Amino acid sequence: MRKSIRVKFTLWYVGSISFLFLVFGILVFLKLQTVLIGNIDAELLNGGLSLAHDLPEYRLKDKNRPQSLYTMDLEGELLFSDDLEQEVKEIFSVNVAFVQLITCPENSGDSPQIVAGTVNLKTPLPFPEKPGEKIGSDSPHIQTITDIFPFSIRMINIRAYDYHKNPYILQIAISMKEMNQVLQNLLLFICFLFPLLLILLSIVGFFFMKKVFSPIKQIVDLTNRITAKDLSKRLDMADNSDEIGELAQTLNHMIERLEQSFARIRQFSEDVAHELKTPLAKLKCNAEISLRKDRTTAEYQNDISAIIKDIKTLEQITNDLLFLSRMDSRKIPRSFEKFCLHELVLSVFEETHQSAHEKKLIVDFGRIDPVDIYADQGLIKTMVDNLISNAVKYTRPGGIIRIDLQKQNKDAELTITDTGVGIPEADLPLIFDRFFRVDPSRSLETGGSGLGLAIVQKIILFHDGRISVKSSPGKGSSFFIRLPRVK
Ligand code: ADP
Repeated sequence: MRKSIRVKFTLWYVGSISFLFLVFGILVFLKLQTVLIGNIDAELLNGGLSLAHDLPEYRLKDKNRPQSLYTMDLEGELLFSDDLEQEVKEIFSVNVAFVQLITCPENSGDSPQIVAGTVNLKTPLPFPEKPGEKIGSDSPHIQTITDIFPFSIRMINIRAYDYHKNPYILQIAISMKEMNQVLQNLLLFICFLFPLLLILLSIVGFFFMKKVFSPIKQIVDLTNRITAKDLSKRLDMADNSDEIGELAQTLNHMIERLEQSFARIRQFSEDVAHELKTPLAKLKCNAEISLRKDRTTAEYQNDISAIIKDIKTLEQITNDLLFLSRMDSRKIPRSFEKFCLHELVLSVFEETHQSAHEKKLIVDFGRIDPVDIYADQGLIKTMVDNLISNAVKYTRPGGIIRIDLQKQNKDAELTITDTGVGIPEADLPLIFDRFFRVDPSRSLETGGSGLGLAIVQKIILFHDGRISVKSSPGKGSSFFIRLPRVK
């Protein structure tokens, strides 16, 4: 099933914020717990130290009875057990404290005796497991006890001494009930807030994402509407400076390129149809004329020769088109070899020499350097042949054709110059286009289809070469070809 990117983003957004909220909630809970326990511990320690500080004022009346611990005040003798309640109330004003004083037996096997305890202690506080050891050190020991009362308590054991330096253990406990209540409330609050936040985040997130993704939806809708038939539409968010604007701009450029390619394809199809129409009409006409009445063998031979000529023109056009299409799709096999370009140029000239001679053209070989190139000999021959043939075709009788071949750094530069009709400056950028002819009526005389230079350019680019033209109407043209040479 296709999941909308908007839903995906909403889920990610809600998921990540919920996760952060959960982590935050846990951290707050743990921090509060530590702070509250810390407060209780501080109260236990301060209160315990203050009680322990007062104990040396008390002495034993009866050495065998620790409960007889007493002190003297203005009213006479005061037992520790009677005084404890009042002292505890004064010291522990925030939380209710449970206090118990026990003896600290010297012999670790003996169990301690309770000296005094506050009235709120219904059950005695648990004795330290090894009172001798723990109380041997002066560091107070604080622990949480859960199994004595129906609620948890935090308890401290502090060593204290009476007037005679007899050791005791002062045990003070504070209930954790209130603290746990606070923590429980917080937990409940988080548990209630979490699903509420989840719902709110989902709603807000969904509408927020809808807004964020609305330009993308627009892009999708419009690109769906743009088809090969109507490539004139453009996306209007291209002015936005954000990523969406950049995407729209890229799509607009792509559509523009597509529009141009479609226009070229349409133009090309029209050109092909047009080019084939004339020789086909001529062919049909010649055949119909020859059938109209009985003719002699010689007349039939004459007519068939004219028909074959037209067929050859058609064959040439289709072969050229096939060649260009193969070059476009790189279906031409690369049969490269090293050969002498100067020898090839001379041999091509030998072949075209006859037509140049017939037009009384002067062919002048300028500088011809011996140059080797690594290329497809058949293709290079076609290229040179097209250029020399054009020079012969478009130069008036008595004109001059000059051929130069020079080494230029890493390249071989072939220059074919003629004193022919020349090409107007405005047409120079178009002469390599398929079916382009400067003067179609003139080309009709010469039999050109306007594909020769397109083929020349394709072959040169296929060999990583370059071609440029200089021409002035009425004076002549120069074609400069550069091909990488072999050293
Ligand atoms: P074509 O088969 O018509 O010669 P090309 O592709 O070889 O087609 O050339 C395209 C057009 O460029 C020609 O129709 C012609 O007008 C012009 N052209 C090519 N070579 C020359 C030249 N040497 N002198 C003048 N015009 C030329």
